[in-house]
Parts: sequence; C-alpha cells; structure tokens
Amino acid sequence: MLTAYNYMEYIVTDELEKLLPSAEALCKCQKCKLDITVWVLNRLPPKYVVSEKGRMYTKLGEQNMQFRVDVIRELTKAILYVSKNPRH
Ligand SMILES: [Zn+2]
Repeated sequence: MLTAYNYMEYIVTDELEKLLPSAEALCKCQKCKLDITVWVLNRLPPKYVVSEKGRMYTKLGEQNMQFRVDVIRELTKAILYVSKNPRH
C-alpha cells in the first residue's frame, strides 16, 4: 500500500543519532529524543514523498543536502533546549 511519508522525519532521526555522541549534557532517553525530533519537525517544512512499506519512491537528490543543513541547525538548538529543560 502506498502512503505519504514525511521524509523530514527520516532525516531528523538520522542526523539526531549522529549528533547524540557529542551532546554530553543531553539525556538520551527515548522521551528526550522524541522531544527533540518533534521540536525540529514543527519548525521545518514537511517534505512528503510517496512511500511503500518504508521504501521511498521519490528521490530528493541534491536538495537533500540543503535539508540536512537546516535540520542540523535546528537539531543543535533543540538539543540545547532539551538539555536545559528535560520534561521529566
Ligand atoms: Zn530523558
């Protein structure tokens, strides 16, 4: 079955995992990671692609790189915020 999938979710999750080892002050529990993911996804425009069973049909190509720059910038802010304001 085909579904609409927000490709930003994939990039945000992927980049967050790369940034986690250097985020020393950050709690690494699932709640905090999801808080960061939601924080970033609510601040960047969604990029929907057609997907079937997790496989992306739309190739975003070079644009992908600019998304990642924006995502990393917002992730850095979100990590700082959640480090200082963990919600548990
Ligand atoms: Zn936590």
